[in-house]
Amino acid sequence: MSDRPLAAVVGVGTELVTGLRTDTNTAEIAAALLGAGFRVAEMVRVADDATLISATLRRLTGACSLVVVTGGLGPTHDDITREAAADALGVSMSRDPETERRLQTFTSRHRDPDARRQLFTQADVLEGATVVVPTLGTAPGQTVPTPMGHLVLLPGPPAEMRPMLATLLATLLATSSQAVAPARLRCTGLTESDAQMRVQRALESHPGVELTILASPADIEIVIFDDGAGEAGVAGAADAALEALGEDCYSRDGSTLAQVVVRRAHEVGLRLAVAESCTGGRVAAALTDIPGSSAVFTGGIVAYSDTVKTSTLGVAEETLAAYGAVSSQTAAEMAQGVADSLQADIAVSITGIAGPGGGTADKPVGTVWFGLAREDRVRTWQRSLFGDREGVRIRATVEALDAMRREMQGS
Ligand code: ATP
Ligand code: MG
Repeated sequence: MSDRPLAAVVGVGTELVTGLRTDTNTAEIAAALLGAGFRVAEMVRVADDATLISATLRRLTGACSLVVVTGGLGPTHDDITREAAADALGVSMSRDPETERRLQTFTSRHRDPDARRQLFTQADVLEGATVVVPTLGTAPGQTVPTPMGHLVLLPGPPAEMRPMLATLLATLLATSSQAVAPARLRCTGLTESDAQMRVQRALESHPGVELTILASPADIEIVIFDDGAGEAGVAGAADAALEALGEDCYSRDGSTLAQVVVRRAHEVGLRLAVAESCTGGRVAAALTDIPGSSAVFTGGIVAYSDTVKTSTLGVAEETLAAYGAVSSQTAAEMAQGVADSLQADIAVSITGIAGPGGGTADKPVGTVWFGLAREDRVRTWQRSLFGDREGVRIRATVEALDAMRREMQGS
């Protein structure tokens, strides 16, 4: 087993263990800790029950050098994380005057005098804790020293939790000499086993690292952990893996495929557009998720029906009648049509059968045609994508984004 420092993540809230709310925080925190070089040993959810929370924190702070808790820092009766943490560590609490002053500005929000008073319970700070001032919301976070390391308390609302987590990790990375962040390479266009073979061979001459491969419909992620090689060793192994993966690797800094596409389009000064049928706007959504995409993405047209394919994209009725909507010819005319009407330098089209119905012997479910128009040239290609409706749509979206990326690679 590696000697990476051990961490645990705890989600507090009855709403999380009853399914009234989905716990997204603990996974986000665990992923961030992984990125900071920790080995996350446990991830648990606990109801708003002082005895249970306290017992959980006592156990985890006794085993891990970092325990991160999210939830239960608000002012209401069910927000008991502070008290439970103090009990678990056997420390006292006191009102932090600075937090108390900051909270004064929020009292006018409440009409009930008891609600106003209750607000100040959020200024109760555990003995020895460092207060993390919130950028959003009222509850501060707290970093409390423990015999093995630290216990960190973060609020439950994700938008309040995230900025504090970022601050916390920046501090931890700056002060910890032990933690080495793993290298993370993302790839498309090859199978999980092919990726494994290429990378494993490349890493034969790089001892002291541990390899994990995570496959999803969207991509394959290669994670290289430190296992004695240290920071330079992990970087060297990542370089070797990158070389083995070649153009199939699109990011080694955690960027998503859409981020890479938008960044590259900025670099080369090209405008992108998309004509989507079976993906229903997912490619456009992925690109417009990225801040700054307006400078490089002119737009997208969801041309789902044949009528829209002809009227909006200029696909010929004869083409649809002779070859069908899911065909090389239609994909080509869709790509050319959207490039012209949306004034793009590179335009991609997608037309396929996502299922579960609609497949034929000739064109089974998962058959998807793509087109890519650049200047006056257009090329098309077909993929047989597997998965249910959702899987086919995700894979088609990734294929389209990846085609844009590869097209811009050389330009
Ligand atoms: P508040 O001041 O809002 O009460 P808090 O720190 O006490 O903050 P909680 O009361 O535990 O947080 O949770 C408030 C809301 O935040 C929950 O109703 C839920 O919508 C969201 N939330 C809490 N924990 C999580 C989690 N682990 N994942 C996702 N959302 C969460
Ligand atoms: Mg609360």
